[in-house]
Amino acid sequence: MKIICIGRNYAKHIEELANEKPTEPVVFLKPDSAILPKKMPFFMPPFSNDIHYEVEVLIKINKVGKYIDPKFAHKYYDEVGLGIDFTARDIQVQCKEKGLPWEKAKAFDGSAVVSNFYPKEQFDLENLQFQLVQNNIVVQDGNTNAMLWKIDELIAYISQFFTLKKGDIIFTGTPAGVGKVAENDILIGKLEDKEVFQVKVK
Ligand code: MG
Repeated sequence: MKIICIGRNYAKHIEELANEKPTEPVVFLKPDSAILPKKMPFFMPPFSNDIHYEVEVLIKINKVGKYIDPKFAHKYYDEVGLGIDFTARDIQVQCKEKGLPWEKAKAFDGSAVVSNFYPKEQFDLENLQFQLVQNNIVVQDGNTNAMLWKIDELIAYISQFFTLKKGDIIFTGTPAGVGKVAENDILIGKLEDKEVFQVKVK
């Protein structure tokens, strides 16, 4: 399986990082080795001094698709989850400055927190509230209604470049409020009122 991530899909997050507003979705990949095994802590990697959390709604692909029409995109997923796109912001800044790929900053081991998945019917995906709580403080509070590109548009866009396969996961972008993690942090993710993951930082 592969993980396809969308960058810059919420206007307020683009502003907080002083990024340019894209005219097309920003897309990058994480390998399956990036997935943080369930119940494992996240270990701060030695190569960065600035690891950021980015909480994101996840979509799990349920069948093979290529050149998917946006109006049929909803047939390619049944389940939704929540995750963290851990980012070595210091490395990413260096990569951006040099015009280099982001993988070292985005795709390292443990950089993808993936919750359990839930039937999409349990939620209103057009108006889905989600939060990241860091040590009992809500640090990110997003809603899919603020996405620049909706889930079905993202699937259509991604499938022009990458064949989507059953089990692939899409990270749909982070809202504003990204910030630094530190050792001993406890990060809790919520979809509406449901706690869907808890990660300790070590
Ligand atoms: Mg992200």
